[in-house]
Amino acid sequence: AELYKIDAWGAPYFSVNGSGNISVRPFGSESLPHHEIDLVKVLGKAKDDLGLQLPLLVRFPDILKNRLESLQSAFDSAIRSCAYASHYQGVYPVKCNQDRHVVEDIVEFGSTFRFGLEAGSKPELLLAMSCLARAGHPDSFLVCNGYKDEEYVSLALTARTLGLHTVIVLEQEEELETVVTASRKLGIRPVIGFRAKLRTKHSGHFGSTSGEKGKFGLNTLQIISLIKKLKSYEMLDCLQLLHFHIGSQIPTTALLADGVGEAAQIYCELVRLGASMGVIDVGGGLGIDYDGSKLGGSDMSVEYGLKEYASAVVRAVRYACDQKKVKHPIICSESGRALVSHHSVLVFEAISSTASAEPALNSSNLAYLEALPDDSRSDYRNVIAAVVRGDYDSCAFYADELKKRCVEQFKDGTVGLEHLAAVDGLCEIASREIGVSDLITTTYDVNLSIFTSMPDYWAIEQLFPVVPIHRLNEKPTVNGVLSDLTCDSDGKVSKFIGGKESLPLHEMIEPRGGYYLGMFLGGAYQEALGGLHNLFGGPSVIRVSQSDGAHCFAVTSASAGPSSADVLRTMQHEPELMYDALKRRVEDYGGGAAACRQLATAFNNMPYLITTAGSGDGVKWDLNG
Ligand code: PLP
Repeated sequence: AELYKIDAWGAPYFSVNGSGNISVRPFGSESLPHHEIDLVKVLGKAKDDLGLQLPLLVRFPDILKNRLESLQSAFDSAIRSCAYASHYQGVYPVKCNQDRHVVEDIVEFGSTFRFGLEAGSKPELLLAMSCLARAGHPDSFLVCNGYKDEEYVSLALTARTLGLHTVIVLEQEEELETVVTASRKLGIRPVIGFRAKLRTKHSGHFGSTSGEKGKFGLNTLQIISLIKKLKSYEMLDCLQLLHFHIGSQIPTTALLADGVGEAAQIYCELVRLGASMGVIDVGGGLGIDYDGSKLGGSDMSVEYGLKEYASAVVRAVRYACDQKKVKHPIICSESGRALVSHHSVLVFEAISSTASAEPALNSSNLAYLEALPDDSRSDYRNVIAAVVRGDYDSCAFYADELKKRCVEQFKDGTVGLEHLAAVDGLCEIASREIGVSDLITTTYDVNLSIFTSMPDYWAIEQLFPVVPIHRLNEKPTVNGVLSDLTCDSDGKVSKFIGGKESLPLHEMIEPRGGYYLGMFLGGAYQEALGGLHNLFGGPSVIRVSQSDGAHCFAVTSASAGPSSADVLRTMQHEPELMYDALKRRVEDYGGGAAACRQLATAFNNMPYLITTAGSGDGVKWDLNG
């Protein structure tokens, strides 16, 4: 556990049990003793009993519940301890993970404390409306962000007639006209908010959304103009919410307090200018400590927890409001990453491993080096001499010269392949001797697509904790990097938390498969951002809740990942027609039923490699029909 810093990033949900497997405590520190879920047992259930093929996404709704309750109680206690005179009422931004179960769970678990939803597009609004209509608290907010056309605005207005508390947040000044037009047409008065463009800016990747040049929000001139227009439309009373978002992963509470303080001053000014303000919405940004360092100096980590975050927000709002004698507003946050990141674990299998060849300076290699053309031969001797002297700079210099020269000579045809290989081997040995090259790394081929399941790693170099889920009581002996199934050189993971360029891994016992890894803290953004590169689709999914049974868990739902037919359909192919055409071809060429069955099975199975599990029994539709 120490090697992988599991206690640092995984607490209080993930740890290692006595069997050396990852164990999950879905209710964190409030979990009952002896109620830890062994992830390997969940994997066994999914693979062996349910026949699910990997990769497998394991969702823990109990973790979601615990995150939600922890966030609420962090704000409740900050509010109590500051004698703040209003309450916290959060919304979940569905863009973080629009999965039906995730959103439904959040609405259900959050209804007692009026937790709402945030939407940023029309389909997100539709799903938020239907989830809140079914199970939300009547006071829950439905915050409508994002670019809006009349259809979007009309939908948000209509939702008000269904008893849903939609707030249309203007991201741009022009949106006001759309809102006024739609509201007049429908005869429905809107509740309006707007997003303020703050000067406070955070410097990490996610901070580009903030500052004066940020993509969204109204600057001071636009805010004044909005107030004037609302007054002229006799709609200033409709303006009730101030929103801002300085970016995801806010690194420190100092920066957070700075931003919230600036926004709270704007809030007080809006009150002074006559708006019927009631809510300050501090956006997202509540971060996750992906590397467990608690340093807050990079996008990988934040230096605070839920309690410190809530306390900084409440204090900053209270300070400005007390200074200006403004009634304390309801505090809303749009925390997404912090709510859903922990709730799922992606389990995937390493299917083979290949160590980089160990170079050797044996007699035949030495003979090839001695047979190099004069200039290269003298470089090679200089490399050896520098290694013997322990002269780092000369060694690096001559090794570089030697390589460059020999590559040119190889291209000219004056040096053979064995000579070049001997040079490559010598340079590798030299760089290891002087400590500029890592130990040997082994490439673990994993039955996964980085583009589908870890898109932020590829797109923005976001690091997620990746850890073997078993054998954690054995010392790992190999430095591994991961290579995925796609035919793309970007489809690899060679950077790991803590700035490491390899991951300590165990030697594989089975020649093909049988070594399982988990990617943790990936519950936010990864599912919707993932693509279909090489037509690898999403993973199988299983939902697991804590229970009193023998294994302390119960599977509440399970589904196989998209089949090859499913992913083909997303590219407008028609698997049924494809199958029919191929079947006719089988018949024309005198093939039999076995070939047709093989085709049908291939359409029906997931695109991933079939190793020990998922033997293709889970046929979903009968292509023979
Ligand atoms: N609200 C808005 C407007 C956002 O743009 C985002 C995401 O960047 C969020 C909320 C969610 O942020 P986070 O995941 O950091 O909580």
